[in-house]
Amino acid sequence: MKIAVENSNDMNDWVIIGGGYRGIIGAYILSEYNLPVTLIDSQNYLGGVLYSKLWNGLFLDNGCHLFDNTNDDASSIAHNILNGEVLPVDVKYRSITNETRSDGISVPDYSKLPDQMQHKVLHEIITAASEPEKQPDTLADLFQLRYGKTIASLLYEPCDKMYGLTPNLIDPDAYGSSLFKRLKATTDRSGRLLKQIPTLDERLAIRTSDPLEFYAKTSTKYPYRNFYPKTHGMRGFCDDALAYLLHNGVNVLLNKPIDNIKYENHKSTITFATGDQLTPSNILWCQDIDKLETILLGTTQLSNLIHNTPMIIFYYACRTDQINDYTYIHDFSSQSLIFRASTPGIYGNQHLDNAYTYVCIEVPSNIDSDLWVNPETYFENIWGEAVSIGLVEGSLPPYMNCTRVPVSYRVPKLGFTVKKHEVIDQIHNYASNILFSSKNVFAKDQIVHQLRILLGEHLEH
Ligand SMILES: Cc1cc2nc3c(=O)[nH]c(=O)nc-3n(C[C@H](O)[C@H](O)[C@H](O)COP(=O)(O)OP(=O)(O)OC[C@H]3O[C@@H](n4cnc5c(N)ncnc54)[C@H](O)[C@@H]3O)c2cc1C
Repeated sequence: MKIAVENSNDMNDWVIIGGGYRGIIGAYILSEYNLPVTLIDSQNYLGGVLYSKLWNGLFLDNGCHLFDNTNDDASSIAHNILNGEVLPVDVKYRSITNETRSDGISVPDYSKLPDQMQHKVLHEIITAASEPEKQPDTLADLFQLRYGKTIASLLYEPCDKMYGLTPNLIDPDAYGSSLFKRLKATTDRSGRLLKQIPTLDERLAIRTSDPLEFYAKTSTKYPYRNFYPKTHGMRGFCDDALAYLLHNGVNVLLNKPIDNIKYENHKSTITFATGDQLTPSNILWCQDIDKLETILLGTTQLSNLIHNTPMIIFYYACRTDQINDYTYIHDFSSQSLIFRASTPGIYGNQHLDNAYTYVCIEVPSNIDSDLWVNPETYFENIWGEAVSIGLVEGSLPPYMNCTRVPVSYRVPKLGFTVKKHEVIDQIHNYASNILFSSKNVFAKDQIVHQLRILLGEHLEH
């Protein structure tokens, strides 16, 4: 590992703090500009949430992670890092809404409501889509402005299940990283017609036999909608990213927790826990903005406005023939514990002795619950639910594992947006050389898009 701390007098040098997907992409883009870049992470690996743990020969992902081929730029970067070693994934979804199952769709499905209610829902969405835009105060308001009153009230249940917080208590800033940006609310046939109107297209989901149908203009290079690293699960991507960035001249410093950042004479001085320092001309902050606030300004205005959702990830090493034909299943019903269940062992082609592979199950929790305190006592229960939603079949396998993730989703509470703008102003007034990528963009392809714009605009000035 290259661990050389070098100062540069070049005004174009960059330090990126946070080596998750954001930091990796930031380093990739800046190295394309041939700028001197140092990428720092407090862990001894790159990838953050993408770094799979190794368990008895299986690389266990932290939940369901795939690459979406929705635009050529984001897909090309992932392909370049992975040196083309990808597995195309023909994703098979199921979603469960109010205990009703819908195959071929991952979002909540309100097209199967009783006739009268379903007509009402559709009418409300069409009306909402024709109204002028208004600023919502809460996520619940945003849902109502977007989908009308009925859907807004129906979304309380899945939102509460996913985050442990109802949408009336959540800031609208959460919308960008939510799973509720489109919904199924009518038949595929009617939906296809309605989607010709742009404001309805952005609200309605339909099933399609061609997964690239809606991305034909932006995704021209690769003939599949999703892909995944050929080896070692998502850790394959993390390890390849480290090798790629080092090869392209990025200075990668791992195991380097930061103690503080001070700004003086147009430069920021980063002090590490070990006492050594870096003084770059520019910083790209690739973690949560509340952490930047604390490290730079010493205040906690934003972290007090964030709800952390704890999650337990259950893993079962089971026989390949116990797994049904789904890539992932979202269960939005409050009656069950499982929120999302996926089959990375299958789409990542991980098979031990040609018989055993694994499934991964995300169960949001809360810190006071018995589930959080004693997750091992829930192995049988969760497996039973996985059978009942159709992910797997047969009896409980002998090999099980679980990981407690104290912070999975970080949900902004009411008042976050207003405070965020104030804090951003304070940061800019204090240190003008720190850029940050907003966390209200969540999916990998959107992160690439956001960083391209952020860094592109900055470098052109
Ligand atoms: C369960 C789950 C499933 C998902 N599935 C998908 C999917 O299928 N498709 C998709 O497009 N997106 C998916 N996403 C979203 C996407 O993967 C994430 O938004 C993205 O990986 C987050 O990257 P990040 O760099 O912002 O954060 P992180 O991965 O959290 O990385 C932050 C990094 O900062 C480092 N760090 C923390 N503190 C310090 C410090 N003081 N100094 C230095 N470094 C520090 C951490 O070690 C970490 O490496 C999923 C997200 C989750 C949680």
